[in-house]
Amino acid sequence: MGTGFHDLIIIGGGASGLAAAVSYVKAGGEDVLILEAMDECAKKILATGNGRCNLSNVSAEGYDEIVAFFAGLGVLTRADEEGRVYPMSNQAVAIKDALLSFLSGVKIETGKRVDKVVRSDGGFSVRASGSDETWASRKLIVASGGSAAPAFGTRGDSFSLARSLGIEVCPTLPALVPLEYKDGKDSELAVLKGVRAKADASIFFDGEKAGEASGEVQFTRDGISGIVIFDLSRFLKFRKSRDANIVVSLDLAPELSKEAIVEVLKSDSGIGLSGVVNKKLAEYIEGRLPRFARNDEYAIEQAAELLKNFEIEIGGSKGWKEAQVTAGGVSQKEIDPITGQCHKIPELYFTGEALDRDYICGGFNLSNAWLTGIKAGTHAATAG
Ligand SMILES: Cc1cc2nc3c(=O)[nH]c(=O)nc-3n(C[C@H](O)[C@H](O)[C@H](O)COP(=O)(O)OP(=O)(O)OC[C@H]3O[C@@H](n4cnc5c(N)ncnc54)[C@H](O)[C@@H]3O)c2cc1C
Repeated sequence: MGTGFHDLIIIGGGASGLAAAVSYVKAGGEDVLILEAMDECAKKILATGNGRCNLSNVSAEGYDEIVAFFAGLGVLTRADEEGRVYPMSNQAVAIKDALLSFLSGVKIETGKRVDKVVRSDGGFSVRASGSDETWASRKLIVASGGSAAPAFGTRGDSFSLARSLGIEVCPTLPALVPLEYKDGKDSELAVLKGVRAKADASIFFDGEKAGEASGEVQFTRDGISGIVIFDLSRFLKFRKSRDANIVVSLDLAPELSKEAIVEVLKSDSGIGLSGVVNKKLAEYIEGRLPRFARNDEYAIEQAAELLKNFEIEIGGSKGWKEAQVTAGGVSQKEIDPITGQCHKIPELYFTGEALDRDYICGGFNLSNAWLTGIKAGTHAATAG
């Protein structure tokens, strides 16, 4: 049964909520309660970076502060050659354990999904769903994430709570998410399932380029995935395309010019495109050119062109279940960028994915969670 009046309540024991709690305690704050919807905190952290937790990036805002924050908790970090930062142990569990053992003296109630927040004279009254339990506090940090990956507890509650308090929320969409072929499982591209390739990719809406990205693409049974596709998905303006014609164009040989590919294809061995790309992909492209042969100049030109501009019709994204982050959220206009407070209600803070901020893959989304959590927790402890 929830009882008592706390100085601070944090809704959500994920990345930003735990960072906020640590910073609050470090800055001298007392009497903080964390309410977490799942049966334990930090479930999503364990799944990040394929279990390794890509916690930051050398080019992320606040990188030095984040590395120092974790060093202060006894976790050393290491960057890979592309600048992605991981715990030195290469295990996400090190991050979870460090945060939760620092917070061992802090009250944490799990299995409490907050569904109502009411402003009262001295602060806030907070209720959990399915019960009449309520808690009260002077300050409130909403760290309950976005709508992406609901299996880890995030169901968009931050946005309904924000709206109920009169805070503007920008429209939300799944981001860092696989894309579906227009014909889904019936697409002839389904044969490419399992193929991985390096690519430069661009996304077009009705022929107009909306964005580009580089990295690995993975072909699945009904669509495309991988880092490059995740990064492109941030440009999608709707979950399913009804009216717009969406095309992803892949350059499947980004290091080579078209002329260089043509030269390779003329080689004596006659192995064709499989000298340049994955064999399954090579055979698929050659199969689309009935007369492909190494002495057919026109067909060779076409093969090289297809490799440099491999167009895929897209029907939409795989949606919230498979998305890693949320695009949209609590409007930046509502938040003081220095303190993390809401302009309208200074005792109220929003952190992490609840905010209208999303980034490409590589550790930038967690960086945002740590940084906004640290900011809000520190300010909540030191402000009057
Ligand atoms: C599979 C996967 C892999 C990822 N890998 C990376 C990566 O390697 N690097 C990177 O930078 N980003 C990664 N991300 C994104 C990153 O994890 C998130 O952006 C980040 O965790 C957001 O932090 P947050 O504190 O806002 O929310 P979360 O970490 O999502 O935490 C929110 C918490 O609030 C709880 N909650 C929700 N609603 C309520 C409620 N009503 N009441 C109480 N509690 C509630 C949830 O259960 C959850 O514990 C990944 C995401 C996924 C899904």
